[in-house]
Amino acid sequence: MRFDILTLFPEMIKAYCSESIMKRAVNSGVITVNTVNPRDFTLDKHKKVDDTPFGGGAGMVLMPQPYVDAYESVKKLDNSITIMLSPQGEPLKENLVRELAGYNQIIMLCGHYEGFDERIRDIISPREISLGDFVLTGGELPALCVIDAVSRKLEGTLGKIESANDDSFSDGLLEYPQYTKPREYRGLKVPEVLLNGNHKEINEFRRIQRIKRTTKRRPDLMS
Ligand code: SAM
Repeated sequence: MRFDILTLFPEMIKAYCSESIMKRAVNSGVITVNTVNPRDFTLDKHKKVDDTPFGGGAGMVLMPQPYVDAYESVKKLDNSITIMLSPQGEPLKENLVRELAGYNQIIMLCGHYEGFDERIRDIISPREISLGDFVLTGGELPALCVIDAVSRKLEGTLGKIESANDDSFSDGLLEYPQYTKPREYRGLKVPEVLLNGNHKEINEFRRIQRIKRTTKRRPDLMS
């Protein structure tokens, strides 16, 4: 899987991808993360990428030329998708993450300031994806969320691919409660069933816990 990220702040992307599990995924060749800075494509000597909005209003809008030229510089592979990170997009959910994991290349446009000149959308026609109903300062965190969530679906990213199988949302439910050592902490004991080595009973306990948890915390997932 190749990720090409259009961002004015490539160091944010590089920093996250050079730690922990993302670092391992990069080093083992499961993913490639490339950044492209639209500022390198400006035609004016001050490397200006934004300007005030026509019609008035606060903030600065990202100009089309640097973004479109930066986008057109990215070599498109077969089976590639282009995403614009935007609070106006479709929410990022498990089904969408799975779908994205089926591509060979994900190109992502990160906005900043007041966002994109509308003609960037018109020309590139990206799929717009949102992290949720709130507004962040830039698209870098959402792009990293896509990289991270999609990479977890790819074989070789996690130590054992099975470790994602029981995660919340993997089969539409939240995960069961987890415990590790010690067996008792501040008077709170690990449920006895988890200690007896009977996997049939353990599986049944966990199945019931998943249903109870999901019903209580996310009834919307049960319908
Ligand atoms: N003025 C825009 C609006 O109200 O729709 C918001 C611009 S926001 C301050 C700057 C950039 O951050 C956006 O272009 C987008 O790339 C990113 N961003 C902010 N919130 C986001 C969210 N919830 N999901 C995905 N991207 C987001």
